[in-house]
Amino acid sequence: MTRDITDQPTPMMAQYLAIRDANPGALLFYRMGDFYEMFFDDAVAAASALDIALTKRGTHGGEPIPMCGVPVHAAEGYLLTLIRKGFRVAIAEQMEDPAEARKRGSKSVVARDVVRLVTPGTLTEESLLEARRHNYLAAWAQVRDDCALAWADISTGAFQVMDCAQARLAPELARLAPREVLAAGHDLRGLVEDAGAALTDLHPSAFDSAAGARRLCALYGVDTLDGFGSFSRAELAAMGAIVDYLDLTQRGRLPLLRPPVRERAGGAMGIDAATRRNLELTQALSGGREGSLLAAIDRTVTAPGARLLERRIGAPSRDLALIGARHDAVAMLVDDPRLTADLRAALSRVPDMDRALSRLALDRGGPRDLAAIRAGLAQGAAIAARLPGDAAPVLANAARDLIGHDALIGLLDDALVAEPPLLARDGGFVAAGHDDDLDQTRRLRDEGRGVIAGMQADYAALAGVGSLKIRHNNVLGYFIETTATHAERMMAPPLNATFIHRQTTVNQIRFTTVDLSELETRILNARDRALEIERGIFDRLRAAVLDHAAPIGQAARALAEIDLAAGFADIAAGENWTRPVVDDSRAFVIEGGRHPVVERALRRKADSFVANDCALTEGDTPAIWLLTGPNMAGKSTFLRQNALIAVLAQAGAFVPARRAHVGLVSQLFSRVGAADDLARGRSTFMVEMVETAAILNQADDRALVILDEIGRGTATWDGLSIAWAVMEHLHGANRCRALFATHYHEMTALSAKLDGVENATAAVREWEGEVIFLHEVRKGAADRSYGVQVARLAGLPASVVDRARAVLDALESGERDGAARPAALIDDLPLFRAAPPAPLPARIKESPLDARMKDIHPDALTPREALDLIYDLKALS
Ligand code: ADP
Repeated sequence: MTRDITDQPTPMMAQYLAIRDANPGALLFYRMGDFYEMFFDDAVAAASALDIALTKRGTHGGEPIPMCGVPVHAAEGYLLTLIRKGFRVAIAEQMEDPAEARKRGSKSVVARDVVRLVTPGTLTEESLLEARRHNYLAAWAQVRDDCALAWADISTGAFQVMDCAQARLAPELARLAPREVLAAGHDLRGLVEDAGAALTDLHPSAFDSAAGARRLCALYGVDTLDGFGSFSRAELAAMGAIVDYLDLTQRGRLPLLRPPVRERAGGAMGIDAATRRNLELTQALSGGREGSLLAAIDRTVTAPGARLLERRIGAPSRDLALIGARHDAVAMLVDDPRLTADLRAALSRVPDMDRALSRLALDRGGPRDLAAIRAGLAQGAAIAARLPGDAAPVLANAARDLIGHDALIGLLDDALVAEPPLLARDGGFVAAGHDDDLDQTRRLRDEGRGVIAGMQADYAALAGVGSLKIRHNNVLGYFIETTATHAERMMAPPLNATFIHRQTTVNQIRFTTVDLSELETRILNARDRALEIERGIFDRLRAAVLDHAAPIGQAARALAEIDLAAGFADIAAGENWTRPVVDDSRAFVIEGGRHPVVERALRRKADSFVANDCALTEGDTPAIWLLTGPNMAGKSTFLRQNALIAVLAQAGAFVPARRAHVGLVSQLFSRVGAADDLARGRSTFMVEMVETAAILNQADDRALVILDEIGRGTATWDGLSIAWAVMEHLHGANRCRALFATHYHEMTALSAKLDGVENATAAVREWEGEVIFLHEVRKGAADRSYGVQVARLAGLPASVVDRARAVLDALESGERDGAARPAALIDDLPLFRAAPPAPLPARIKESPLDARMKDIHPDALTPREALDLIYDLKALS
């Protein structure tokens, strides 16, 4: 770019501005030689996001132009940062050789155009993707009363659609965790961002259902979509929007999308966003994968296997036959540890064929992707051969998809070297012996001198001149040289038919031959030619692979299925898990159940987990367990372990228990009292109540509901009343199986009033004034809450604990002595203070410290709040 002294932009800047204006909403990566440059506001934003230097280059409108740039070879890393920070990036490449542009005139600018728009939902590069997670792009459409959600992962070709009212959108987005959601004119930003995705608001025309149907027909090369199923207008609109957006972002290179699969409503256990979060199914509350159920149980050895596991855990099945078939597969592998070990060893050498295939389809693939297909199919065949003829049907079906790829494996094996380079550009990936022309060309390139030496001997013999030499200089290139004494003979017939005179010097005479000049040209061109042949071979191999895309996709899915079953078998055998009985009953009977994540964490500390039973049915009458016990006794762990056992059982896994009988769970709900939910920063009690309302309104009689300390986000009597009424509703109206943990001991009275409500308690033992947690869940009610003891464990200073114990003793003996003023006593009990403060019993003299003490709810304190409290109390004493 030259300095611009007038207000006219330079030709290059004019081109830049035109491209930028044609791609609003995206940072423009403008290719200049070995760099992508950014200008103006883009440069300012990118320099700060990427922490790179912002410079200036030329002027525009009299102002210096801010500029920054990133080297092309390192661009992927920068792209990743920008995408993570919420940018989308348009990549403008040079569309011709700069020499071409120069030919058109000195002022000519190299033609450039955007070849791709990089957005969070449309990534394909290995370095930009997480191997073990899906990268979904979703679209939500509404056509009158009809709504649908479609989602695709262009890195694997998965494409699905379902009916989805707006009210169901949040749970579905929570399940799929898409990176980007397309919508038009609906106010979905909060909802989409809550699910951790970026919202892309499109023009409503992108959601036209008729255009959508046409786009889909064009994509699959069919006249009608009937062959794929019948889709509603909203479904067509949502799917069409995805295809349109891919067309826009991939600039016409459509990825390989498998035909859309409609997801059956009710096929999976209903799990809403709050439940997923609470149970930490695929993400821990802290945000990462570590600490989640997924991380604790993932024994898969391939990335597609890990992605399948995430899908299964995210959507446990409700199909009894399918669940049973998956358990059969795991059972067979548990019974044959040698086979499992062999399969896992072979699987660990299976690359990610889905993603390789997708890159090849988008023409972003390289030789290594071809090699991935070769290795995947070859390992697949070996794995199929390893599975016995009478394998469980899930495995036998998978084995069938793994055979019959020999021709393609043979072709790739013959064509590719063992470890090809990443890029086709530099060649060197085609194996010797695959293509004669290439072999010869490479020989020329590599052994040019040797070939010339051979020719020199031939020509010496032909001319009868032993001293004949083939030499090279920059003027003549290769030439044949003899001493001038041979001139006459060589320039006369018959030798002059071969030797063409080029030059005579004082002592030498120089010739060329047709063969030599051809050879020379071929040597000079050999490098380019070899590259060209290799590129041609790459294109042919790529086409062969893409022709075979559907069966390769099936093989990849089969391998993921085997990997998942083998992973489940491995953890079942290693951790002593058992095959659950899943049937159509309403049973929920677990013997010796464990929490897989807590157990793992304890084991790291060389602690052991105490297994616990749970039985939520009496005959066929669903029951509710009301669990009391002090904080830290293991209530939450017990609640969650039972929910997780239900998830694992229906996800097709064995479960951490001695015995498990799970009547099919249609919906799973889990809520935690607001005090545990501070991170969300809203009116937490309100959130808690909204979420509880959702359960009471939705839970059917096949649901499993886990409620932990519901109602504790408000004053005691309010909370107790709410918890009480919620329990009655679950029992009388929802009639579902439920586990309900509370520290409101008053609620234990409910068991006497309601059939099927059982009291259980996480037992503790008191020893010399200390509380020892046994982590045993037993029938019965807790006798007291041990809040003071727990507060001591939390690190409250001894003086505060002693004081608290004195207060408690006083209150308790007051209660025992006369019950003269029970209401006042209960009001004053630190754990159960009602809204209007009442005077303390006369024996305790009111002090600022006492006043403050009245407000302490040890059960509701986080360690941080406890610490703050200590500072407050210190200040008062
Ligand atoms: P609560 O909900 O009653 O406050 P938690 O379920 O949070 O208690 O458990 C507190 C801690 O006790 C857990 O972090 C865990 O370390 C330990 N724990 C819970 N259940 C068990 C168990 N069954 N066996 C061993 N340790 C347990």
